[in-house]
Amino acid sequence: MAYQSVNPYDGQVIKTFKDFTDEQVEDVLQNAERCFGEWKRASFDQRAKVLHTAADSLRTRFDEFARPVTLEMGKLIKESRAEVQLSADILDFYAENGERFLEPKHIHSDAGEAVVMNAPLGVLFGVQPWNFPYYQLARFVAPNLMAGNTVMVKHASNVPQCAQAFADLFHDAGVPAGAYTDMRVTRDQVARIIADPRVRGVALTGGEDAGTVVATQAGHELKKTTMELGGSDPFIVLEDADLPLAVRWAVWGRIHNAGQSCVASKRFIVVEALADQFLQQFKAALDGLKMGDPMDPATTLAPLSSKEALGRLKGQVDRAVAAGARVEMGGQPVDGVAAFMPPTILSHVERANPAYNEEFFGPVALYFRVADEREAIALANDTRFGLGGAVFTRDIERGKRVADKIDSGMVTINHPTWTAPEFPFGGVKRSGYGRELGDAGILEFVDKKLVVVT
Ligand code: NAP
Repeated sequence: MAYQSVNPYDGQVIKTFKDFTDEQVEDVLQNAERCFGEWKRASFDQRAKVLHTAADSLRTRFDEFARPVTLEMGKLIKESRAEVQLSADILDFYAENGERFLEPKHIHSDAGEAVVMNAPLGVLFGVQPWNFPYYQLARFVAPNLMAGNTVMVKHASNVPQCAQAFADLFHDAGVPAGAYTDMRVTRDQVARIIADPRVRGVALTGGEDAGTVVATQAGHELKKTTMELGGSDPFIVLEDADLPLAVRWAVWGRIHNAGQSCVASKRFIVVEALADQFLQQFKAALDGLKMGDPMDPATTLAPLSSKEALGRLKGQVDRAVAAGARVEMGGQPVDGVAAFMPPTILSHVERANPAYNEEFFGPVALYFRVADEREAIALANDTRFGLGGAVFTRDIERGKRVADKIDSGMVTINHPTWTAPEFPFGGVKRSGYGRELGDAGILEFVDKKLVVVT
């Protein structure tokens, strides 16, 4: 893919960037390797200072960082600003807690006194998606720099300005050259970078297909990976739910970031007693959304990230309908230059329908009616994904019992699954493996080195 900024609202090409040459890739690798020797010996205070300085810059220059997000991938400007803030919080979180998370663990044993240290692994390679252009980088870069690793990033080809802005942020904050480099590389170069012996670990966030390719390449080289992949998260409404609350969060869960979030609520599973009321109120609320310029604060539904993304989503809706799904609302893209899909609800999606097992990356909700809690859980788990999930009930203990039965990395009661710096984020099944954020996120790419004194 060519690295290019295209505004998905007006179709204008903002800027085109050149791919790195093989010589540039080699320079980056050499610098990252050389810098690792220096960075791993930097104190936690030195590393934390860089992260805090970068976080402060994000906060003071938040609009300067937010605008390219909206211009390159179309997110509502208020959501871009919130993402800048969240990214700053992640940097501060690791600056403040990284040393504690990495403290050596002492083991008193008959075989000897032992200590397990968390030593940095070396040069890491991150492959990142466009949907949260800074937040995704923060999740990978902050814990790993704090742990003493050096990082190289291949960001998605449609957000090159955000990619460069985030790397510049760190250079301005005083990170040594080679500790963090943004690379505009082709897929062939990605494969060669993964195979390079100087690279010690690979983190990918993206779709299943990219995850399969990159995990296979890294597995062939016996390199540690984390895979943060897609989802088709259930949003369960039980008969004792607070209906207005459930409807309000259903809209947010499906529409935030124009529905282009891995943990967006994608399958709405409603128990019979509330099914009609929920559907009616969900439709009415979605109907009230206003599509428009994502830079305009009055807009409440953003365009998709590109015309290609819109074409893929339309194709999924068409195939679902051809296989028997019923369109409860929406269903056809809006004519025009902008990549708009109106809010869409599909019902009667049977097991044989391809939609039953697909991720819809946009404002398209799949709606299911079920008899009771047991059926809701069975349907929630009948998917190859397992990322997040939501359960709505007034009985919190019941919500926890249901959460326990859902096969996924995360479940939230009375709210769609969301993220915070301190919450480990990740999935199971085809949603991937490993965790980012929290204490778990900084322990993925360290050598848990055992030293024993007998
Ligand atoms: P994508 O197409 O898989 O791309 C993700 C990254 O992988 C991009 O940098 C892309 O580069 C690269 N890539 C794609 N195919 C590749 C290949 N064969 N070899 C090497 N690199 C490859 O995903 P996306 O459309 O950007 O993001 C949407 C997907 O990410 C959704 O499925 C979403 O659920 C998932 N996601 C998961 C999480 C999580 O934490 N679990 C978070 C956010 C998003 P190019 O741009 O150059 O193609």
